[in-house]
Amino acid sequence: MRGSLVRSRRLSSVTEAVGDTPLVRLERVAREAPSVEVYAKLEFANPGGSVKDRAALRMITKAIESGELGGDKILVDSTSGNTGVAYSMFGAALGLRVALVMPSNVSKPRKDIARAFGTEIIFSDPMEGSDGAIRHVRELVAKDPERFYYPDQYSNPNNPLAHYHGTAVEILDAVGDRITHFVAGLGTSGTIMGTSRRLKEHTRPVRCVAVEPADPLHGLEGLKHLPSSLVPAIHDAAAYDETMRVTTEDGWDMTDRLAREEALHVGHSGGAAVFAAVEIAKRLHREQGGGCVVTIVPDRGDRYFAPMKWERRYVW
Ligand code: PMP
Repeated sequence: MRGSLVRSRRLSSVTEAVGDTPLVRLERVAREAPSVEVYAKLEFANPGGSVKDRAALRMITKAIESGELGGDKILVDSTSGNTGVAYSMFGAALGLRVALVMPSNVSKPRKDIARAFGTEIIFSDPMEGSDGAIRHVRELVAKDPERFYYPDQYSNPNNPLAHYHGTAVEILDAVGDRITHFVAGLGTSGTIMGTSRRLKEHTRPVRCVAVEPADPLHGLEGLKHLPSSLVPAIHDAAAYDETMRVTTEDGWDMTDRLAREEALHVGHSGGAAVFAAVEIAKRLHREQGGGCVVTIVPDRGDRYFAPMKWERRYVW
């Protein structure tokens, strides 16, 4: 029983708890495609609660190894939330100072979690979204380069490499040769880039699909509508085969179904990714009578709840 061994392992640091997340078969939301296996990789099982633990840990570890990070340097980056939680958690674990730039309209629980680890938050213009946060952090670092270490998750090769060496290897370990399709939401593009590159080296062809919001203004937090955004430097469309565009409504509806039918209460980007995976599964069922689709659930739904305890204000 590998699962029980993993759960009972003893660690010397929270950094060692990253990765080895479980895959769960989705049978109910994919019931229209009974000949196809659909799996969700539960990235909320990482210690910071999201897929971004992987990229953050690798970027930080490599920067410490190269000497770019250490001493009094402040780690600063822009983030839609989950990467910020991960930086904050590892900052606390490794004794590093962390500052985050984020649009002021990012969900309150995300800000509160980062602050709980001792992170300083700097707000950028909410109307300019995540691109505004990127511009803001670049200005800060340009003004005072000695003070800051800027991992820049949109340009840092260690972001996709975390998935190349981690996520993809774990998927192959879990489902092996059966995998025919891989589906992941695109934010910085680290997950789709790194995982697809490794899966493409596999002996059997694996079709890799990126999921983007259908509209520039959307409610799928963590995902990027590339045609209207700054394209991340780590992004290369040649690494994967196809882009599927999912509406906010379809993503949210699948998020609701996942909670009620599969007992998986996940964030909306996970709902969008599963929606796309199930669409692919239905097509495979009709046209090929089989297949194995693996997708990523980046985080848990309660990250988007309004907080109570952390506001230190109670209304009964
Ligand atoms: N979903 C959520 C909730 C996220 O926070 C992110 C990261 N921005 C993603 C999906 C996309 O992951 P990636 O940055 O690896 O493309």
